[in-house]
Amino acid sequence: MAAYTPMIQQYLQVKADYQDAFLFFRLGDFYEMFFDDAVKASQELEITLTSRDGGAEERIPMCGVPYHSAANYIEQLISKGYKVAICEQVEDPKTAKGVVKREVIQLITPGTMMEGKGLADKENNYIASVTAFDDQVFGLAYNDISTGESKVTLLSHNFDEVLNELSVLNVKEVVVASNFSAELQKKMRERGVLVISFEDNSSIEMNFARLLDGLDQEPLKQTVARLFHYLFRSQKRSLDHLQPVTTYQIHQYMKIDYYSKRNLELTETIRSKGKKGSLLWLLDETMTAMGGRMLKAWIDRPLIDRSAIEHRHTIVEVLMQHYFERQEIREKLTEVYDLERLAGRVAFGNVNARDLVQLKHSLMQVPFLIQTLQGLGHEAVKQIADQMDPCEEIADLLEQAIVENPPLSLKEGNIIRDGYNPELDQYRDASRNGKNWIAQLEREERERTGIKSLKVGYNRVFGYYIEVTRANLHLLEEGRYERKQTLTNAERFITPELKEKEALILQAEEKIGELEYELFTQIREIVKEYIPRLQSLAKAVSEIDVLQCFAQVSEDRHYVKPQFSRDRRLMVKDGRHPVVEKVMNAQEYVPNDCIMDHEREMLLITGPNMSGKSTYMRQIALTAILAQIGCYVPASEAILPIFDQVFTRIGAADDLISGQSTFMVEMLEAKNAIANATKNSLILFDEIGRGTSTYDGMALAQAIIEYIHNRIGAKTLFSTHYHELTVLEKELTQLKNVHVSAIEQQGKVVFLHKVKEGPADKSYGIHVAQLAELPDELITRANEILSKLEKPEDIEKVWTEERVPNKEESAQLSFFDEPASVKKQEPSSKERKVLDHIKSLDLLDVTPLQAINLLYELQKKLKC
Ligand code: ADP
Repeated sequence: MAAYTPMIQQYLQVKADYQDAFLFFRLGDFYEMFFDDAVKASQELEITLTSRDGGAEERIPMCGVPYHSAANYIEQLISKGYKVAICEQVEDPKTAKGVVKREVIQLITPGTMMEGKGLADKENNYIASVTAFDDQVFGLAYNDISTGESKVTLLSHNFDEVLNELSVLNVKEVVVASNFSAELQKKMRERGVLVISFEDNSSIEMNFARLLDGLDQEPLKQTVARLFHYLFRSQKRSLDHLQPVTTYQIHQYMKIDYYSKRNLELTETIRSKGKKGSLLWLLDETMTAMGGRMLKAWIDRPLIDRSAIEHRHTIVEVLMQHYFERQEIREKLTEVYDLERLAGRVAFGNVNARDLVQLKHSLMQVPFLIQTLQGLGHEAVKQIADQMDPCEEIADLLEQAIVENPPLSLKEGNIIRDGYNPELDQYRDASRNGKNWIAQLEREERERTGIKSLKVGYNRVFGYYIEVTRANLHLLEEGRYERKQTLTNAERFITPELKEKEALILQAEEKIGELEYELFTQIREIVKEYIPRLQSLAKAVSEIDVLQCFAQVSEDRHYVKPQFSRDRRLMVKDGRHPVVEKVMNAQEYVPNDCIMDHEREMLLITGPNMSGKSTYMRQIALTAILAQIGCYVPASEAILPIFDQVFTRIGAADDLISGQSTFMVEMLEAKNAIANATKNSLILFDEIGRGTSTYDGMALAQAIIEYIHNRIGAKTLFSTHYHELTVLEKELTQLKNVHVSAIEQQGKVVFLHKVKEGPADKSYGIHVAQLAELPDELITRANEILSKLEKPEDIEKVWTEERVPNKEESAQLSFFDEPASVKKQEPSSKERKVLDHIKSLDLLDVTPLQAINLLYELQKKLKC
């Protein structure tokens, strides 16, 4: 180390404390990176890698980014899951003796972004801490540093619940103790956590103790304390906007695990992972960023408390009944800026004058909002209005103090209004008068010398000067002008009077700059004291924003207010899938009823592929969720139970991540539902059991249905292609068959998407085969087998006495059996090829259309 120059030594000392971060080391107008950081950053950011002499023999790798465009680069690194430590010069280079002192002033990490593109307006950016109290009990706290909101809970079931919360909240960074289990860290990474950070201090300190007042258990406090220590350590500043921490329990909300949320596409779609096409996208008629974030949080946590849900419905109803007032509210809300994040920036000290003007405009909307809400004459609405604090003092202060269109930079001046501060006014007078005086001087000098082109100008090096072109120099009075600068065509002069006025003007301008900055900082400090009030205002505004959004969507899309049954009855008339309906065009969507009462706790849904089984199942779940977040529902009438949990097993989108086989995941999900569901839950099982062979799958499906029916009694929608299961209706008193209908019209299959009572028409598959022009003989044979399969007592016969060579082989194989008379003959090589082809197929991967095409190809091969 001794061989390095003092600056590199300083760099290495600072870097030693930030091994896991890129160190942005301020050198003049650049942030430089050295050694490995430089090599890695040059690759990640695609910037040139250079080197510099650092005193040692070998040159040191180096790369850098300009100070003014650093934000972009920092964001790129953060989005890739890195941390960036910002190391600034903390003393004036002019007065420094030796190497300028430098310190890390902030550690920016994926979980602690305060601004930038990475921070979507309508999304929270959460950082969490997890503390293990024993194998089964975990504390989980999370915080959004841009809004200051924190929540904490204890999860006592197992680590899956922690993982579930982290996934649902989309947590990018988790803080744990340094001895936290490596295996669990790995699990968190697998679930999308970008960075794991370490913090061993979980003691409660004075500077944040008051924020923990609402927490009654020591483990909760410790979990939050770990998170706060990390935040203070990395942000290195007062975080005055941190709000009191609230505790929550997951069983206070409808429980939907992360995979079910994804399956139901609540906040993002499975395919694109984007918002478009999700329930959130459909609902998002919020007018403010804060409302957008609250909407997402509400969708993530539907309520189970009847009165709380009905409270929301009541307000939505009032807002629906008052169309014009609602439009007025929407208009006012568009003028309301992101008060929560603004409060965060005030506390952070990086708020600018334009932000404060926006704050003023936001606050100015509040009295109108209050007035409109109170005018609706309803107690529940009035309560929200009462929580809105217009913070008039702040609005007035900002109106008096800050000009309407201030510059972005705080150093340019022109921020503070005339008349706000007498001292500033005096300096401004001097400066403005001085400038007038200079304009006057220019006129006088032109007259005195008779030079029309004479002008008075200003530059940074020489200050004010009188400029005369070369051709006119002879007109100048001898001894009056002192030469300062010679240009190609002109000379520049000063006079003592000009110098004197210049001093006054420059001094005034310097003072103006300093004073404006000082006044701005004072105003910012005053606003800081209002942070808690601004935050509670933000909450009330967000709440009314989400509720008006529900009213707007419900009206636009003709939703109805759901009623809640006390006997667990579910009755939805003309129900629709909200998103499919929106995407496809409302007229085309076929509404469907759903009735589930104590005689119909389970519906076994049959019907051909693409007929609408899964859409029907999802629409029931989405209707329940919409109702429980407080929105109206897509139906003409709806009576619903309050569901405590929703379980789904639909599709196989996530199976790859876990490294499990599709079938294993299917079974794990089934287990999850069976182990946790109560009679108040909703279970959606789409084609459970199809991941294994026919007999296995059917046996499991039946056993699962029986178990849920006999032991749990949860409302269950079970779609299946095993028609054989429809006989269960006879034995299981609470199970009913329904099917989604399809008909044949002019030789084509038409899906009616209409759900009807009873099992599906079983000959349907054979129908499709017929449409695909399979040989008549084959169709007849299929019908024959089918009619036997329909009689359960004959099933055994079909498989043994009939011609199927081997139980293990799939039913489709029997289509290619030879007639009985030639049964013993060996298949020809052509036939063998076809058989081999069929054996090698992965039927789970084949769509019905592809299957028909394939069948056609195979048949062609056999025929030729
Ligand atoms: P399945 O689960 O039976 O294979 P899906 O539920 O995936 O069928 O539905 C297939 C397609 O049919 C959907 O993408 C949708 O476009 C359409 N569909 C489903 N239900 C309806 C309906 N009720 N009205 C109109 N179209 C529907």
